[in-house]
Amino acid sequence: MRVKLVAGNWKMNGSLASSQALLKAILPSLAALDRARVAVCAPYPYLAAVGQGVRGSNVLLGAQDLCQFDDGAYTGAVSGAMLADCGCRYVIVGHSERRTVFGEADDVVALKYAQALKHGLTPILCVGEVLAEREAAVTEKVVARQLDAVVTRCGVEALGRGVVAYEPVWAIGTGKTATPQQAQDVHATIRGRVGAGDRKVAEALTILYGGSVKASNAAQLFAMPDVDGGLIGGASLVAEEFVAICHAAQGAKETART
Ligand code: PEP
Repeated sequence: MRVKLVAGNWKMNGSLASSQALLKAILPSLAALDRARVAVCAPYPYLAAVGQGVRGSNVLLGAQDLCQFDDGAYTGAVSGAMLADCGCRYVIVGHSERRTVFGEADDVVALKYAQALKHGLTPILCVGEVLAEREAAVTEKVVARQLDAVVTRCGVEALGRGVVAYEPVWAIGTGKTATPQQAQDVHATIRGRVGAGDRKVAEALTILYGGSVKASNAAQLFAMPDVDGGLIGGASLVAEEFVAICHAAQGAKETART
C-alpha cells in the first residue's frame, strides 16, 4: 500500500496563537488517517511550540528551509542540527520562493539537501518551472537540471531518502492549478529520470504536487498514478480546507504506474 504524504507549508504567516488554534482545529480530524501521512512546516520561531502541539498526534513537524552549513558563524541562519533538535522530521529545500526571492542557486539547494540528510531530516526538494519556461516548452529541461544538481552532489540513492515536490511556479499562490494530466506528465518524467539512475529508488520515490491545491481539486490530482500527495501552501492555513485535502489523500485509490 502506497501511503500519500500531505505537507502544509505555512510560509511566513500567522502568529503563535493562530498556529496553536490551527493545530487545535485540524488534529482531531486527522487522528484516524492511516493511508495519508501529514506534516506541517511551520516558521522557525514557532517550531518548538508547534512541535509540542503535535506531540502524541500523527502529524509530523517540518521546517521550511535550513542552512547549507554546519553550526558556526552564520548569523541569522538555522542549521539542520537545530531543526532536528526541535523535533523536525521534514524540511523543505529549494522552494521556488527561496530560489527566486532569495537567489538560491541549484548548488546551494543541493548543499541544503545534503545537510538535511546528514541530520536525519527528510528533505522535500522542490522543483518546477516558471511560466515563461512552460511556454517555451522547457519544463522537463528545467526540472532535470534542478534534480541533477542534487544527484550530482548527493548521489541518486540520496533522492530515495527524501521527497520531491513538483511545484510549477506559475501555480503557486496564484489560484491556477496544473491540470491532473499536466502534473502526472511531469511526475512521470521525474520518475523516469530518477529511474534511469536507479529503478528501485524511482519506484519508491514520493513525488508531491504543489501549486494551488485546494479541497475542490485535491482528489483529482491525487488520483493520478505518479502523484503521491501534495505540498500545500495557502490552503494549509485554513483548517477545513487542509483537513479535506488530507482526507482526499486518505481516500485516493492506488492506481498502477505505467
Ligand atoms: C507552496 O507554498 O509550496 C504552495 C504550493 O503554495 P499554494 O498551495 O498556496 O499554491
